[in-house]
Amino acid sequence: KDFRNNVKPNWCPGCGDFSVQAAIQRAAANVGIVPEELAVVSGIGCSGRISGYINSYGFHGIHGRALPIAQGVKMANRDLTVIASGGDGDGFAIGMGHTIHSIRRNIDVTYIVMDNQIYGLTKGQTSPRSEMGFKTKSTPAGSIESALGVMELAISAGAGFVAQSFSSDLKELTSIIEQGINHKGFSLINVFSPCVTFNKINTYDWFKENLTSLSTIEGYDPSNRSQAMNTLMEYNGLVTGLIYQDKEKPSYESLVKGFKEEPLAKQDIALDQGQFDKLLTEFM
Ligand code: SF4
Repeated sequence: KDFRNNVKPNWCPGCGDFSVQAAIQRAAANVGIVPEELAVVSGIGCSGRISGYINSYGFHGIHGRALPIAQGVKMANRDLTVIASGGDGDGFAIGMGHTIHSIRRNIDVTYIVMDNQIYGLTKGQTSPRSEMGFKTKSTPAGSIESALGVMELAISAGAGFVAQSFSSDLKELTSIIEQGINHKGFSLINVFSPCVTFNKINTYDWFKENLTSLSTIEGYDPSNRSQAMNTLMEYNGLVTGLIYQDKEKPSYESLVKGFKEEPLAKQDIALDQGQFDKLLTEFM
C-alpha cells in the first residue's frame, strides 16, 4: 500500500508544497506504517489542501486550528501517527497560540509548516514570516514589521524537536520528517516552500543562495540548546537540518495518569452514565 491517492493537487506548477506532499508520503512509507495508521490534519491556506492529497485519514480543519484537532486525534487514538500541517500564516499568525501551547504540552504530533513568507491563497499579502521591507498588496510601501524568528521562539518555549528544511531538497526533507515522526513528543518542522506565484523575492534561487545546511557546520550538535540558539541568530534563522532535539523530554501521553494500554478509540464506548463518570474520573 502506498500513500498516493488519485486526487490531483491544484497547486500552481512549481509550488514548493508538491515536495512536502511527496516527502510526507515517502517518510510515512519509510517508517513502516500503512495508510490506515496515518492521520493528516491541516489548516486553511494553499498548503492546507495537503490533507486531501495523501492516502490516509485526513481532516481539513479551520484557519489556525490544525493543532488542537491533531492533538484530539492523537489523544483518542495514540496508535495513529498524526501529522498536522499548514502554512506560515496559518501556524504563526492566527494559530500561534496553539503552536506555543502544543510545544509546552508535548503531545506526540508532527507539525509541518510550509513557510513561503506570504499568504498565497488570498493572493499575496505580508505574513508573520515576511522580512521587513517586503512589498505586497497589503504593504505597498514595504512591511514595517519584522519577521518572526519561529525556530528561536520554539526552542525558547521548550520544544523537544525543532527542524527546518527546504522543498528543493526532497532527500533531506524526507529524512527530517521521518525523524519528526520517530520523535516521542511534539515536533516542529518548518519547511521553506516557495510560492512561485506571489513571492518573487524568496524564490528557489534565493533560498539556494541564502540557506546553510547544519551538516556543513563543524561540530554542530543538535542536543546543545545554546549552540542551536546561537547558530540560529548567527545565520538569521536560515539554516536547514535538525536544529534541536531533546530525546529525554517526556511526552504528554507518557505523563497522563491512568492512560489505558488500549487507545480510547478502540475501547467499547457503549457506556452507561456510571461507567462514563468513572472514565472521566480516571482521566482527571
Ligand atoms: Fe503555491 Fe503560491 Fe500557488 Fe498557493 S499561490 S499554490 S502557495 S505557488
